[in-house]
Amino acid sequence: KPLGDRVELADLPLREDLRGRTPYGAPQLDVPVRLNTNENPYPPTPALVAEVAREVALAAEQLHRYPDRDAVALREDLAAYLADATGVPLTGRNLWAANGSNEILQQVLQAFGGPGRTALGFEPSYSMHPIIAAGTRTEWAPAPRRADFSLDTGRAAAVVAERRPDVVFVTSPNNPTGQSVPTEDLRPLIEAAPGVVVVDEAYAEFSSRPSAVGLIGDYPEKLIVSRTMSKAFAFAGGRLGYLAAAPAVVDALLLVRLPYHLSVLTQAAARAALRHADETLASVAKLAAERDRVMAELAGLGFDVVPSDANFVLFGWFEDARAAWRSYLERGVLIRDVGITGHLRVTIGTPEENDAFLAASKEVGR
Ligand code: PMP
Repeated sequence: KPLGDRVELADLPLREDLRGRTPYGAPQLDVPVRLNTNENPYPPTPALVAEVAREVALAAEQLHRYPDRDAVALREDLAAYLADATGVPLTGRNLWAANGSNEILQQVLQAFGGPGRTALGFEPSYSMHPIIAAGTRTEWAPAPRRADFSLDTGRAAAVVAERRPDVVFVTSPNNPTGQSVPTEDLRPLIEAAPGVVVVDEAYAEFSSRPSAVGLIGDYPEKLIVSRTMSKAFAFAGGRLGYLAAAPAVVDALLLVRLPYHLSVLTQAAARAALRHADETLASVAKLAAERDRVMAELAGLGFDVVPSDANFVLFGWFEDARAAWRSYLERGVLIRDVGITGHLRVTIGTPEENDAFLAASKEVGR
């Protein structure tokens, strides 16, 4: 028995507003086919692994010193990657990095949200947005999507104009539903926003749509584009998220970030991984093709499939999604119950994993 286990959570002098809340909890289960957290199923190439190991060994010689607090070299590398990927001229001063884009989003809410302020998001969307809002004591304002889960941007702009939130989240492609918002449709929404608009582009590399990064020049006082190396970049374990925005936005985040938040090891590993971006991202086209195959085969089995522009697919309809989720698990396939009635979400894996998922789908039925 662990020391002190006679004390329970309810006994602690916890903030009232955190009582009764549930933590983020995607199950981490050891099963043969894990298709539940939207990672890239392909492990890093041997060349990437060797370079990360080499760079981390070099960095280890400096472990007695604090890291570069502002991660200048890493931000330059991220800017070069993102400028190349989007065609938008960016410098290191337009970039900021943290331990996953979750930390990026937390810093954004620490600086632009907080007590007395409101953040608005279009649900269903990424479950961490309201959780990070709660942690930073930012009031959460949920707004709806259409019944088919797409975003009615005209209506969204009207809601933003009426509610006047300090922070607006737009996830594109949206997790867990998969659709992207066309960049031009974001303009009225951004123009209606009195505060900042965070476009969460965690899955952008999988999308056929241009990035919202192209709008930063037009809305430098409002637009923040959040990205991550956890998905297409196959670096979820490395924990590296980033944003692109005007340099003044980065100045604001410097006020709330913890000093030395990005370790020497993280910075070295991320830079090494970025040097292999081309070979890592070669998997994106394969995954997009597999996504299209999985969508078509699910539809062929009679499921309702929500069109996806990302590396996951939301599908239904299940009388009892929870029971169906368990049936998949019994067949060695871990997918995700995201709490949307009648639906489950599957991450696109390797062709063999997708085959296992589709075989299970035939058995689970609807
Ligand atoms: N945004 C979205 C939309 C996500 O789906 C995720 C991961 N599930 C994240 C942000 C955070 O990922 P990370 O912290 O690994 O960058």
